[in-house]
Amino acid sequence: MSLEFSQELDNPIISPTFAPQDAGEIGLRPKLLSEYTGQEKAKGNLSVYIEAARLRNEPLDHTLLYGPPGLGKTTLAGVIANEMGAGIRITSGPAIEKPGDLAALLTNLNPGDILFIDEIHRLNRVVEEILYPAMEDFAIDIIVGKGPSANSIRLDLPKFTLVGATTRAGQLSAPLRDRFGVSLRLELYTPEELARIVTRSATILGMEIDPKGAMEIASRSRGTPRIANRFLRRVRDFAQIMGDGVITKEAADLALNRLEVDELGLDAIDRRMLTAIIRNYGGGPVGLETLAATIGEEAVTLEDVYEPYLMQLGFLTRTPRGRCVTPLAYEHLNISYDGQASFQV
Ligand code: ADP
Repeated sequence: MSLEFSQELDNPIISPTFAPQDAGEIGLRPKLLSEYTGQEKAKGNLSVYIEAARLRNEPLDHTLLYGPPGLGKTTLAGVIANEMGAGIRITSGPAIEKPGDLAALLTNLNPGDILFIDEIHRLNRVVEEILYPAMEDFAIDIIVGKGPSANSIRLDLPKFTLVGATTRAGQLSAPLRDRFGVSLRLELYTPEELARIVTRSATILGMEIDPKGAMEIASRSRGTPRIANRFLRRVRDFAQIMGDGVITKEAADLALNRLEVDELGLDAIDRRMLTAIIRNYGGGPVGLETLAATIGEEAVTLEDVYEPYLMQLGFLTRTPRGRCVTPLAYEHLNISYDGQASFQV
């Protein structure tokens, strides 16, 4: 397979963000903490906070969930609502355009409800300012009238819990960040955890899967449940057409090779990124923007989607002077340290 295989260049199969093909994942979402695989640290803390809030008969503190896309932030917000026996309203930063949109959402909440705002770092400033008193005092100030006769009226809100999700905690303004009592970071999943998720999903979808098949899908899913569930559906297609429908290691291997996802889950953009650092910048360091321009991708995509997994694999490091490729990555790409491919892949 050539490194410059054009069909691979924009491979949506490994995108961790929600796509129309993922509509089926809604039924796969765990509903309770006990069904939510992995994230032991976040889950451990959360279960204490939930238990304590329930004992006090109060809503949970406002909670910020952060980490790369597809790791289960929306799912966890739903789990929190179920565990608290509360309702949930789901929206996102960019969807709330005007202060009035947020005021309408807030005034329609029932006591104890969860308001989930995805991509909360993309809220606009004016809207964000409405959120401050809402979070702190459970009240909003509404301006009635215009010009000199305008009046500000304070409207009380029911006590609610704001659950905010973001891929970029660093982009949250300090006043907003400080108003979250709980802040939980979600990590990429291990292959073993993903194998458990895939096996659970297969059972829900009525598929037969063997443990090696689950592990093969898991180890190529970039630490991301959304990708694992997506691969599962694609592998099922291959297993049905080419075999007896059972998801085996062979079926997974065949399907994922066809999808041009290598044995570690890397696609063409990962490989282009790593080879560009090696070939053009002697293995690094190179600044993110320069790298993005070199390979013609958005810097945010590289940072949010590609880098977390490459760093988890130990293929890439972020240093103050830029990104560096590690010897492990040279090995995976079959490139010797003088920058020459030792054989053509
Ligand atoms: P995010 O909001 O972080 O982008 P989602 O909550 O939408 O991610 O999760 C994507 C999909 O991955 C969910 O539909 C769910 O099926 C699956 N998923 C995520 N986390 C878990 C988990 N811990 N256990 C089982 N399945 C999960």
